Amino acid sequence: MKPPAFIQIDLDGIWAVRRCYGLTEDDFFEHDHVYEEGIPCLLDLLSKKGIPATIFVVGRDAGMERKAARIFSILANGHEIGNHSYDHTLGLSLLQDEEIRVNIDRAQKTLTGVMEKQNWGKENYPVGFRAPGYNAHPRVLKTVASLGFRYDSSLFPTWWGFVMRIIDFYISGRFHEAKRQYGSFAGGLKPLRPHPVKECAGLYELPVSVSPNLRLPFHFGIILERGFDYYRRCVQGYISRGMPLLYLFHGVDFVDTRGIPLTPTMRGSGFFRHSIKMKLKLAEQILDHISARFSIMRARDFINTLG
Ligand SMILES: [Zn+2]
Repeated sequence: MKPPAFIQIDLDGIWAVRRCYGLTEDDFFEHDHVYEEGIPCLLDLLSKKGIPATIFVVGRDAGMERKAARIFSILANGHEIGNHSYDHTLGLSLLQDEEIRVNIDRAQKTLTGVMEKQNWGKENYPVGFRAPGYNAHPRVLKTVASLGFRYDSSLFPTWWGFVMRIIDFYISGRFHEAKRQYGSFAGGLKPLRPHPVKECAGLYELPVSVSPNLRLPFHFGIILERGFDYYRRCVQGYISRGMPLLYLFHGVDFVDTRGIPLTPTMRGSGFFRHSIKMKLKLAEQILDHISARFSIMRARDFINTLG
């Protein structure tokens, strides 16, 4: 039997990506290429491949009617919606406990509120959470468990977070609020397989996959730079061990970002230089590779099999 795989997409709007790199956000909040172009493009690709996915939505986006309509198209295609915080605050764990709770709960209420209005039943309500910037801090996880979520996918079990932070510095030209981005060194010692979260009864962690030995990140943004062979080498350890795979994309991966000011530096824009044609070809190649070797399912369906 093939091991399970989860295809997940963080639907960070253009405004949220700009915010990560220290730019003003609201210019791109209403007309958001990720929602207008990225979602239709992503849904086309997934339906062409017959792949069910889990898509993490930022609550603030769901509150906007035009964007809510896009979210319904995700549900109508049979995909799962997860909670990606209310406003994509990097470093949730730097907030007070109550502020963390209010942030996640507000996103949940916004998401379930719009679903309820359109008669999407409770079986569609988010049961999974991913913290912006992979901030899988124990305080965040405790809050996630107390709000009744079934699983968390914030853990990025790599010890290369510092390299990722240096790349971010290179892209944005400054250190910013993202102090806790890409997790902690200790996260690199955590299991790669789905596992129950210690001290959080009922909550499972589904970690973002990194290469099994060196713990190198290989989500799609990295593969755009490193290429398919690097992906293939990283995923090989999951195939040979029969381990579940969690493969991550972002909303901007399905947008032609070449004309969009996402970073404050010219050198940063080099990271968003790829044509949409090239990105889709590579995404398709990766999805085909995963489909042939894993049984792709929505994370919520996998969690239900655990009882
Ligand atoms: Zn995000």
